[in-house]
Amino acid sequence: MTRECEVCLREVSDEKTVVCAVPGVPFSACFCHDCLASNAIPYAYAVDNTWAMGGYENAGEAWREIIEATLTHLGISMEEFLKDIEVVEDE
Ligand SMILES: [Zn+2]
Repeated sequence: MTRECEVCLREVSDEKTVVCAVPGVPFSACFCHDCLASNAIPYAYAVDNTWAMGGYENAGEAWREIIEATLTHLGISMEEFLKDIEVVEDE
């Protein structure tokens, strides 16, 4: 049996995933061990929640650290991330 890690979107075997609360948002998600160890969170939550805070410049220190860990872990640039937040705003 495999499950999809909601952070890196890889299929990983069941015993290598863990479902736990996503820091900073009222949801839980399926994490593989690599993602959990990196402190990354699912990218969609990172984008939506930053948008809900009124943008990255309004985010608190703790949330910024989570975003940084997520972007680093997924290899996404800050530029790309800020663009994705703008897309949410346009919808
Ligand atoms: Zn993962």
